[in-house]
Parts: sequence; structure tokens; C-alpha cells
Amino acid sequence: MSAVAKRASAGLRLVAAPFLNTRPLISGLQASLPPDVSLELCSPAEGARRLAERECDLALLPVAALARQGDLVAVPDVCIGSRHKVGSVLLVADVPLHELTTVALDQSSRTSVTLARLLLRERRATRGEPRYEARPPSELVGCVEGTRGAVIIGDPALQALSARSFQYTYDLAELWRALTGKPFVFAVWAGRADAVDAEVCALLARSLGHGLERLDEIAADAGRHGVAPERARHYLREELWFRLDDNMIAGADEYLGRAAAARLLPPARLRLFDGTTPSVDVAAAVSRAADGGRLNAAEITAMLEGADLIELGAAANRRRATLNPDGVVSYIVERNINYTNICVTACRFCAFFRNPGDTDEGYVLSREEMGQKIRETVDAGGVQILLQGGLNPELPLTWYEDLFRHLKATYPIKLHALSPEEILYLCRLESLPLETVLQRLVAAGLDSLPGGGAEILVDRVRARIAKLKCTSSQWLEVMRVGHRLGLRSSSTMMFACGETLPERTEHLLKLRDLQDETGGFTAFICWPFQPGNTRLPGGDGSAHAYLRTLATARLALDNIPHLQASWPTMGAAVGQAALHFGADDFGQVMFEENVVSAAGTIYKMDVAGIERHVRAAGFKPVQRDMRYGRLTS
Ligand code: SF4
Repeated sequence: MSAVAKRASAGLRLVAAPFLNTRPLISGLQASLPPDVSLELCSPAEGARRLAERECDLALLPVAALARQGDLVAVPDVCIGSRHKVGSVLLVADVPLHELTTVALDQSSRTSVTLARLLLRERRATRGEPRYEARPPSELVGCVEGTRGAVIIGDPALQALSARSFQYTYDLAELWRALTGKPFVFAVWAGRADAVDAEVCALLARSLGHGLERLDEIAADAGRHGVAPERARHYLREELWFRLDDNMIAGADEYLGRAAAARLLPPARLRLFDGTTPSVDVAAAVSRAADGGRLNAAEITAMLEGADLIELGAAANRRRATLNPDGVVSYIVERNINYTNICVTACRFCAFFRNPGDTDEGYVLSREEMGQKIRETVDAGGVQILLQGGLNPELPLTWYEDLFRHLKATYPIKLHALSPEEILYLCRLESLPLETVLQRLVAAGLDSLPGGGAEILVDRVRARIAKLKCTSSQWLEVMRVGHRLGLRSSSTMMFACGETLPERTEHLLKLRDLQDETGGFTAFICWPFQPGNTRLPGGDGSAHAYLRTLATARLALDNIPHLQASWPTMGAAVGQAALHFGADDFGQVMFEENVVSAAGTIYKMDVAGIERHVRAAGFKPVQRDMRYGRLTS
């Protein structure tokens, strides 16, 4: 199956920068885009971010970003490079290179910044590097004075020499050629292995062919890039080179090798699509993952699709036993308090919310009502409150701050509160930055963040099931900033809500990527969508599908220490089975639950029930706190 066909429901998502030098590569796509392919234009740094966060499948990617993301496959035969001079990557100054004390850079262009630093190190061996100063692109030309130079790139570089003259103009591709004898590659089409196949490569090669036949037309239209047509014609025909031939590949590998040796980029080589679709040996991947080996996207999807369930479960169990070795299954005594059901978001899968103005069924709990629930929880040995609710426009940030301060001053409990959606809503309501809202909530007593509202972290799915909810990258950003502030959080996945299996994989990998970055997720919980009383049809939420997804998640999320069994949705018996399919935690004592139960699924358990079920499954129950510290032995 081709990558295009495989992603048929989401389409093949391409991104490229809107520069003059990309137009020969994308003009064919723009002239005739296949129906299942989309092309969006954004800055190279944004393209790299989208590829890293799996918001696109292929990007016209700066070579430095290729090194930073690793594990990417480049499309053969197509690139943006230069064999001699390029004219659009310049170091400009009013003093010679060896007299520069400061160089201003646009830090978002890591390929050119790294190239400039490599060249400056070489050319100024005895003087060392100058000081580097980050500046927005619009300020670079104007800031050149005295011993301060600037690296200017792309269309602004082509415009700069007609706008202002400099005493010294160094063409970095020309300096590179002089240093190495090799050409330079600035960007290639690249994506993950499961997104690049012969059909995609042919599509992009055709698009380049279309562009190369129309270089004069593109040059004639270069005024929209601020470049005179004659200059553009010379640039496109004489200075740029669009064929990723053997010489260009050697140039790219030379750059990556030198940048790694200088510790400016992680070690990498250009890895080209070799004409074969990678076949997956599922049994070998399962066995490797059981020993802690990292899975790629194709392997995870193959496990979700059809690995032998018993072998998959045994591998997940082995991995669980390595990560949590002493036969213990933890659980927490906490209470889920849904402080309001008023919500402006109206998710299609939600049976819990009521619209603002619903005076019959809408509610906001009073402090007294919350206090009574908390007292019952503390009396039963509870250590934490999970506080979540709808997005209620009547509740400002100060309402939460006052509530948190009151609760922390009155009761001996931790506050595990407000999912990313609620945090983002407060940012919008108060017109405050995310970091400020989180800092104020932490100052008021917030201890940790629940991972609710992740559903499937793929925007195509989110737009379908909850189109007013935050995007996947916004959800991840709340967690990223929260983790940076020292908060810990859980992570979740609600599957069987209309996603494809590659999209389920994409969700898992986004969590794994963020965990690599922050280490802030303590646990992962997944459950199938409960369609009762909602406007959304459900997918396969069977015990079989749940156990397969759970076991695959245990193997895929090699950096998240704990997985919870979701007995509140699946029932106690499946919850016990989950403990043999990768889960090491039995979740929470269920005093009350209002969201899933609104969809008709109601399983509850007290401490005795949890301990009985855990022991009957062959494990020793131990109470824990949010950070998985043990409270009983
Ligand atoms: S899931 Fe949350 S955000 Fe969506 S409607 Fe229900 S309460 Fe509101």
C-alpha cells in the first residue's frame, strides 16, 4: 500500500517555505495537486516543527533540521543546493571577516547559522569565533555597522545588495566550496519512513520537472519576492541546483559530518529512500521492544494491526516487569470532582456537558459541596483531588486561585487539577500567556496536571470529534510548559473515535517525543471511546482491541514508567487482564465519576475492591501518590 493510500483518510500533508528558491520544487504541486495531497506554506523552522510534531508527513526541510530529527528519509533526486556561489546565503559586513567581533543571525535558519559558524571557525582559526547575536530577519541588514556583520538568507539576501552596499560580502556556498571542494545542500524533501514511498517520490520529482521547465516564468513573477526578474533568472538558472546527485549527496554528508564533529549538530547522514517500502518483521519488533528496544512508526502500526495478541501481551508483560519489577500494582485513593458541567465546547463525544444558561441541569459546585466530598475522601485515606470541569465562561482565573488556596489551606490533599483544555481556556478568557496562567495556578496550590482531553493528538481526528477543542500541538505545549515549571502530569488516549491505526500510532509517538524532551509524564492511560448518549458513533472498543492497544502502548512508550489499567471503562475483569498486558497501576478508588458514566459506563470500586482484584490477578497492591511514591508497603 502506498504512503498516499495509507494516509487516505488524512491525505498526504506536505509543507514547504514560500521562498523564491522553493518555487521550482512546488510549482507542479500548486498547478495540479492530487485530491488526497495538501500543501501548506510556512517558514522552514515551522515546517521542521510540524514534521517533528507529526502535523505533516513530509517537509521541504533544512538539512540541519534533518540531523536534529534523525530517523528521517529523504526523497532522492530533488533538493535545493548550490554547486558554487548561491547569492542568497551571505555574510555581509563593513570590515573583513577576521576583524568581526559580532555576527547577527536569524537563529531560525539553523542550516545557514551552522554553516556560518563552521566557516568562521575555519577562517578565523587563531582568533576564535565572534560573538553571535540573535536578531529577527527584518533587523539584520540594518544592524550591520563597525565590527558587527550579519548573516542574511533567502529572499532578504537577494534584496539586500540592491537596498544597501557593504564593504564585504561573503557568499557562504562559495566559501564552503573553497573549504571542502564540495557543493552545498540547503534543503531536501524528508519525512518518516512510512510516509516516503515510490509514489510520493515520483509525485515530488514530477513537480520539480514541472518547475524546471518553467524557471523563466517563475523568474518573471519574482517581483512578489522583492527580487528583480533578471536577478531571479540568474539565481534560479545559474546559482541554485535542484538535482540531488552524487556530488550533492557527498556535499550534504560532508556538512553533516563537520557539523557533528564541531558539536553544532547531532551526528547524522543523509538517508535516501532506496526504492523499497520497509517491510516490518512484527515478531522481531515485539521481541526487541520487550527488551527495551525502541519501535518505529511502522512497527507500532503493525502491532496495532495484527501482532499475535498473546505474544504481544507477553512482551508487554515482560517490559512491565522490567520497569516495575517487584510484582507490585499501585493505586491511588483520590476523588474525581467535576466542579462544573457548564461548557462552551460541545464535544460530540461528551454526554456530560450542559450549555451556558442551562439553569435546569447546569451546575457549579459550591465550596461547601466540594468540602463535603473532600472530607469524605480524606476520611477514606484519600491523598489527592482530581479537579476537572467544563469550560465555564463565568469562572475567571481568580475563582480558581481563590479555590485552590482555600482547599490547600483547609484539607491535607494534593491538587491534580485542570486539563490542558481548561488551562488554555483560562489563557483565552484572561488574555494571558500560558506560562503566566500556569505559574499563578502553581502559586495558588496546583500540584500536577491531569492528561485529559488528549483524545487522539491528530488534528484531523480532533476537528471531527471536537472541533472547538485545542489542537494537538496546543495540548502538547501546555504539557511542555507545565513540565518545564516542574509540574508532573499523566498522559491519556481515547481511541476508537474515528482515527486510523497510523493516527493512533502518531498519538503515541507525539507523547513519546515530548517525554524524551521533558520527562514529565508519570503515566499513560488509554480507553476506548464510550459512545452511549453521545452524537458520535463508536469504533472497536472491545476487550480484545483494548488489550492490544494497551500492550502496544507499553512497548511503544518506552520512556513512560507507568501504565494504568482502565477498569472504570472496561470493567474489573478486563482491568485484571490488563495487569498481564503491560499495566502496572490500577488507577484510582472511584468515589464518583460523572463524565464516562454520563455515557452509560459505570464501574466503581473502593479500596477493598481494588486490593481484592489486584491480589486475585497475582499482584501485591500498594497505595501511591501522584508521583508514584509508595504510601503503603
Ligand atoms: S469533553 Fe470537556 S471540553 Fe468537551 S464538552 Fe465535555 S466537558 Fe466540555
